[in-house]
Amino acid sequence: MIDSAEKLLAGTTREQRQVLLIVDVQNDFCAGGALAVPHANAIVPLINQFSPHFAHVICTQDWHCPGHISFASSHPGKKLYEIIETQSGAQMLWPDHCVANTHGAEFDGQLDRARCEFVVRKGTHKYLDSYSAFLENDKITQTGLHAYLQQRALTSLFLVGLATDYCVAFTAIDARKLGYQTIMLQAACRAIDMNGSLERACERMDKVGVSRL
Ligand SMILES: [Zn+2]
Repeated sequence: MIDSAEKLLAGTTREQRQVLLIVDVQNDFCAGGALAVPHANAIVPLINQFSPHFAHVICTQDWHCPGHISFASSHPGKKLYEIIETQSGAQMLWPDHCVANTHGAEFDGQLDRARCEFVVRKGTHKYLDSYSAFLENDKITQTGLHAYLQQRALTSLFLVGLATDYCVAFTAIDARKLGYQTIMLQAACRAIDMNGSLERACERMDKVGVSRL
């Protein structure tokens, strides 16, 4: 897996239309964080290794206000990981995480962001969650990433980050639907993988033509 990603990158050095999209490599999703993804920190050196191969590097950042709709603590009587119905559809209830301007919301300290040109914040509305870096969970509200990429004629996205089965997968699927060439570099992603969520996410990505290397 790593071999194929490295071979691919060897042939695509600083290709002008290609973007490395680093999804949610934030303290709360890394070791010791409120919603730590297993083995998340293992991907950081690899992402740092990939970064210089890309002309464009963009980071996403989950960014919630206190009392956000996605937090179990905002719904008295509801449990962690329970799914509730909201105006924008089914909502999984998570531990409080990535609260704006807290340590948990900051990028992992080992992530090299020297070449990051744009940060997309998502999930910023109190009553609306966002797994995808393009469209929030109502499937209407845009984050601004699509406009940014379009205006710069950036057409090819390489995704790395956290978590494979949620924010990476939702971002990759929306990217395909919007017409981007979309490649997920699996060695530099890690999943939560709860109740078969990784397998389901991979099936959904395959269906819309996301390449998984
Ligand atoms: Zn979140």
